[in-house]
Amino acid sequence: MNGCARRVWLNQRRDPANAPPIYLCDECHFCRWNDQCHTTAEAEKNITLLNGMSRRAWESLTAAGITTVDQLLSHTVESLCQFNGIGMATARQMHTSARAIQNGDAILLAPVPDELRRPHLMLDIETSLDFGNEGQPWSFGWSDVQGNLQAMIVAKYFEGDHLLLPDGRRVQIVEHYTDAWRMLAEYAAAHDLKIYHWSGFDASVMKQTAAPDVVEVLSPRMKDLLHIFKQTVMLPVRGRSIKKVAAYLGYAYPPESDYRQAWNDYQLWMLENDDEALARAMAYQLADVEAMLIARDWLIKRNA
Ligand code: SF4
Repeated sequence: MNGCARRVWLNQRRDPANAPPIYLCDECHFCRWNDQCHTTAEAEKNITLLNGMSRRAWESLTAAGITTVDQLLSHTVESLCQFNGIGMATARQMHTSARAIQNGDAILLAPVPDELRRPHLMLDIETSLDFGNEGQPWSFGWSDVQGNLQAMIVAKYFEGDHLLLPDGRRVQIVEHYTDAWRMLAEYAAAHDLKIYHWSGFDASVMKQTAAPDVVEVLSPRMKDLLHIFKQTVMLPVRGRSIKKVAAYLGYAYPPESDYRQAWNDYQLWMLENDDEALARAMAYQLADVEAMLIARDWLIKRNA
């Protein structure tokens, strides 16, 4: 953590009303004041909530006395470009984000691509956090052509091709992640499906870890749903991680779950055959897929 002046102030139990201004950043996720700062920022309609707001832009705007969404909206997009760290694209993004927050509702920017209405597959993967094996997939969650959630994990020494978790979930087992990519490629090709994923991460990992002939099949099919989301809608919240978007749309992830916990649970299953731990990991994995399905449905409905 770097030294957030506000955090130091609050930790010293000084008067919150006079605390240094809020700049929300990655550091906030690990800060005990996170909820309080978010609540305050939302109540103030603070510019730190805007998508596209870099620290440099925030410092420049704050120094000029522009700290709220209403104040920012009193400036034109063009005039925002005079501030440090703000070009035309950023100014447009911040202006739209400010209008969404001011209205308390999403703003549609463009029609949803027609291909999103055709049958497709949603994919999310989890990758190893082991030193030396970073980026190697250990889990694949996807929705099949009927929209059913499917889970597959890598386990080299497992006897059999699947297991049933205590919650009844079937998990397919493959010996190596290249097998998983091949199976996905065969499924997508057999049903002529696009494969949607959130951000460029999954496609980038695929290119690095699938066999060359599989990369050839998968590459033209993989589509970044986050990119489509950014082009078609602005939500009245900061951030576009699938968790943020899902939370805005009312979807709740399993409590206390994240990619680190899922990795730890997978390790626990590998070492101690703890099926409950694997069930937790799969619940997180499939929540990502379900959240993408919900985001897609919402996009289509808003565009109807
Ligand atoms: S939540 Fe963020 S802005 Fe608030 S005190 Fe912590 S680090 Fe600073």
